[in-house]
Amino acid sequence: MDDELMFKIVFIVTYAVFAGVRVYYRSQTLGRTSEKEYSQRTKAVVALSLAILGYFASIGLYIVVPQWIQVFHLPLPSFVRWLGVGVAVVGIAFVVWIHRTLGRQYSAKWEIQEQHELITVGPYSRVRHPMYTTFILFSSSVSLITSNLLLILFAIFVAIPFYWIARREEEILIDQFASEYLDYMKYTGRFLPSFSKIEDESPEKGLV
Ligand code: SAH
Repeated sequence: MDDELMFKIVFIVTYAVFAGVRVYYRSQTLGRTSEKEYSQRTKAVVALSLAILGYFASIGLYIVVPQWIQVFHLPLPSFVRWLGVGVAVVGIAFVVWIHRTLGRQYSAKWEIQEQHELITVGPYSRVRHPMYTTFILFSSSVSLITSNLLLILFAIFVAIPFYWIARREEEILIDQFASEYLDYMKYTGRFLPSFSKIEDESPEKGLV
């Protein structure tokens, strides 16, 4: 089998597993009524939807008519593409861990559930938006498998609106949890752990 075909199959299988996990957890939220629902008609949601649309379109081209986007093909060494597979697989494991931790608080929309609890443990103990970080990590690493610049650029492009999405979500959570969330923000980073904040504000400070 030629290498390109093999990487394409690996890409499709990796993506299918990721999509399967997402569909499973989303299906758990179907038919549920939330306590509060916030409008999705924001620039952040429109920007994210457009970026995702472009990303999926480029994936479609790669799978169905790769010759159309052949000009964007990069001569990446095989090990970089395999590294993409490895990081993507770790990303899938993270998504499962994050969903299991967030539990019934998860929603694909900005919502507050009945008896919504603020989660600050596991992946949420240092980072406020581990799921979004993992999505960005997954889409970038999986695009490395294709070795196609168009997909890599779209994956980076998808990351930008997550910044606005996360900020809006934080406003909602401050609205709901007030000082509890503001305190949580003091020792966590938005997308990555903030080590300076951990040293200054961690609730564990003084216990070691
Ligand atoms: N932005 C988070 C969660 C995405 S799911 C992440 O990237 O991991 C989106 C839902 O999670 C929103 O409806 C919001 O109400 C809820 N949420 C986000 N952070 C939360 C937290 N720390 N505790 C409880 N619910 C949270």
